Amino acid sequence: MHEKCGVVGVSLAGRAAARPLYYSLYALQHRGQESAGIVTHDGFQQYDHVETGLVGDAFSAADLDDLRGSVGAGHVRYPTSGGTDASCAQPFSVSFKSGSLGLAHNGNLVNAADVRGDLEERGHAFTTRGDTEVIAHDLAHNLLESDLVRAVKRTMSRIHGSYSLTITHDDTVMGLRDPQGNRPLCIGDLGDGYVLASESAAIDTLDGDLLREVRPGELVVLGEDGSDFDSYQLASPPQSANCFFEYVYFARPDSVIDEELVYDVRRELGRRLWEESPVETDVVMPVPDSGRAFATGYAEAANEGRESHEDAEGSAEEGEPSVEFAEGLMKNRYVGRTFIMPSQNERERAVRLKLNPIKSTVEGRSVTLIDDSIVRGTTSTQLVELLQDAGAEEVHVRIGAPPIVAPCYMGIDMASREELIASDETTEDVQDVLEADSLAYLSIDAIAETVGRERADLCLGCVTGEYPYDIDGEETDREVERPQVGNRTMEAAGDD
Ligand code: SF4
Repeated sequence: MHEKCGVVGVSLAGRAAARPLYYSLYALQHRGQESAGIVTHDGFQQYDHVETGLVGDAFSAADLDDLRGSVGAGHVRYPTSGGTDASCAQPFSVSFKSGSLGLAHNGNLVNAADVRGDLEERGHAFTTRGDTEVIAHDLAHNLLESDLVRAVKRTMSRIHGSYSLTITHDDTVMGLRDPQGNRPLCIGDLGDGYVLASESAAIDTLDGDLLREVRPGELVVLGEDGSDFDSYQLASPPQSANCFFEYVYFARPDSVIDEELVYDVRRELGRRLWEESPVETDVVMPVPDSGRAFATGYAEAANEGRESHEDAEGSAEEGEPSVEFAEGLMKNRYVGRTFIMPSQNERERAVRLKLNPIKSTVEGRSVTLIDDSIVRGTTSTQLVELLQDAGAEEVHVRIGAPPIVAPCYMGIDMASREELIASDETTEDVQDVLEADSLAYLSIDAIAETVGRERADLCLGCVTGEYPYDIDGEETDREVERPQVGNRTMEAAGDD
């Protein structure tokens, strides 16, 4: 499973925007490794630099010096539509009669083909196949006839799907979140200006203070001199559709979403996982790094559960060992995400390249392995085998999310329905495929309760098959627009 994109935008009082944008993109690197880009404006002219590759490789010091002005937007990309070549790198930067625009987009429109067709009929010529250019053209068109806020509102009424955007329009920076708030976006105070970012970790990196989430359907317009910002609630649907996987996997554990530290949420989910699916075990170990917070919570709850059971029974034996939390799988950090794994056979070997068990932690013991999710099952199967080969007597698998039964159409590169191991297999069947001694997933209710949301206010499409957006025809769109995604990146262990 691959993260979606990350977006940032800043408006500063007299300070160059390029380096703060660059540092905040570093903080969001986990959300996209395919390309990185920055667009700035100095009041007279728009500047941009986009490049394929990681943030550290995409910019030189000279590139940053050339990005003039104290306002700008930035983007790290994992391609969810439009292909993987450099022309699709963002921010999408273009000049129209109505002024220059730079757009950084996290999400996926479900009606991009329709809007694009309408615009083409009106004479707009497109240079990419991505949905971000569709938003840019529609907004540019509306800016010819309306002021900024009305133009954005008209574009919002045309586009449907998932989007968190940072936008530069000449020297104005905006943040916009789709009416159901599928993707995250927050705003922070930098003292001499404001920052919009996909995650609060980017605000921390700039030594800023997180103010709040941008609300679903809200447009935030940063003042040109960094002195303030204006808010416009352009849409207020009764329900939101926040992606629950942001809490489970995508967001950095040190980010804060809706006033909750993501690490704490994952730890609590781990505790709930033990409450729902306890198992007698010697050692609880995470799949690094994605399972760590879940495993910490699971082991804590297991030990508390054991203590209360012993108290109730009155049979606690002094010195009885508690459940151990251990890092029993060591990660080779130098196997990168872009390691090319062209065949299934080599993909399987990649798990062994990436993770190595510590025999002394595993040998002769009952091991409970904790991860955030199972997508295809390839990694989990390999890890169970790895632990059994290292001498584990039993291997139990616990997953901090429900079974993934359907693809994501909102911007996550997950897998096709046929590739999802749980799409037509029961938990018992998946356990057999994994050859694990037991397997259990966390329930949807536990997730909703832990993140403090009604089920109806979360997107749960990939675990229920019911989506908050009208996805008719989206499968066809994806086939046309995403020919290269998924066959050039390694299935990183833990991302399986
Ligand atoms: S389908 Fe799943 S991964 Fe996609 S937005 Fe919804 S919850 Fe998130």
